[in-house]
Amino acid sequence: MKSITILGSTGSIGTQTLDVIRHYPEDFSVYALVAGTNTELLAEQIGEFSPKLVVMKDEEHADKLGMLIEKLGISDKPEIIYGMDGYLSAVTATEIDIVVAAMVGMIGLRPVLAAIDGGKDIALANKETLVCAGHLIMKKARERKVRILPVDSEHSAIFQCLQGLKNGPFEDGVPVSHDDNQVETIFLTASGGPFRKSTREELKSVTVEQALAHPNWSMGAKITTDSATMINKGLEIIEAKWLFDVPVENVHVLVQPKSIIHSMVGFSDGAVLAQLGSPDMRVPIQYALMYPERRYLDDERLDFEALATIEFEKPNTDVLRGIPLATESARIGGTMTTVMNAANEYAVAKFLDKKIPFLEIYEMIEYAMERHTVIAEPSLEQILDAERWVYRTLDEK
Ligand code: NDP
Repeated sequence: MKSITILGSTGSIGTQTLDVIRHYPEDFSVYALVAGTNTELLAEQIGEFSPKLVVMKDEEHADKLGMLIEKLGISDKPEIIYGMDGYLSAVTATEIDIVVAAMVGMIGLRPVLAAIDGGKDIALANKETLVCAGHLIMKKARERKVRILPVDSEHSAIFQCLQGLKNGPFEDGVPVSHDDNQVETIFLTASGGPFRKSTREELKSVTVEQALAHPNWSMGAKITTDSATMINKGLEIIEAKWLFDVPVENVHVLVQPKSIIHSMVGFSDGAVLAQLGSPDMRVPIQYALMYPERRYLDDERLDFEALATIEFEKPNTDVLRGIPLATESARIGGTMTTVMNAANEYAVAKFLDKKIPFLEIYEMIEYAMERHTVIAEPSLEQILDAERWVYRTLDEK
């Protein structure tokens, strides 16, 4: 039985992770649940999964949760703590085997690094951590022999296509490099989001509700907005670079509007392997938790006759500038990927709060990137400083 901590248990990935665990109670026990402010859902999860520890964002929500647990008469009471020290305790306890990293944004960075330090395997959804600190995370994972198991559907697909390769995703449990010419191209597929055919003129008046109407996937608000701007695909290119140790230039984005092919790998002999399936995040979550085993999942099976065709398009990078902005930040490297990511987090929060129009997300990212003095090979502190610098700079804009 694997003992699990879930960072972000009340979110889209967190709740689907618990759904996988619900179907396999003999395989998993929940050690800790970590959430931000959703006390009602967390209380329900405590009632059902009986974690030993729960962590909330702050004291106010921890107190509120404590009262709710009393009111609901939950008998199996967990310890309740809060804040960053709490997140760190939740990922380092000796009992834990695997940490599901599903918080949104850079807040997940310190917990992910601490979990790796503690020798815990990571099921990684929280891509922002790799975008900002891929060099630290992957180095530490190799040193500590920790497996980074991708949860992002595209990266899970790539990971699945690499199984059986002589130099597979792991060697002796350690993530290995694919910068050895066996992997020629990674075809990262993208739905294109709700605005894939929009003009710049049309995007000027886009509403939050329109941006949140993703055609295929049901996800949290931040990643759904990132999908609409295509920043998400840009973040995923950088995520692939770190997870599979391939140059960014070898990652090719293909728009495939139905989200049936989750990604493909082209090898040096011209063979291309693809992973297909219905768009259901429980598939990559379950694969990461049970790797290398495959177990039954009640997701929708593909009906190829009904599907008939799978179409491909080039991404609309002139209008949706997420990919060029992210790849430029990766080309520059160092703290620039943090600046791109932090500016995006700042701008998306403002957009969701209806304080700025959609297209200003790109402008804010460019504004921060143009003004930043890069530090190569940054430490964790320098990465967090760069994030603070972005918030100050954009506050003063
Ligand atoms: P959600 O917004 O649905 O959930 C985020 C989770 O993080 C919630 O549990 C939230 O708690 C928690 N959280 C946010 N801020 C804090 C904080 N300061 N302290 C503690 N907990 C916090 O996001 P998603 O599940 O959609 O995404 C999570 C990550 O996974 C992101 O990095 C995303 O890019 C990635 N991902 C998501 C996919 C998806 O299908 N959703 C697919 C691939 C990757 P609360 O709600 O209680 O405040």
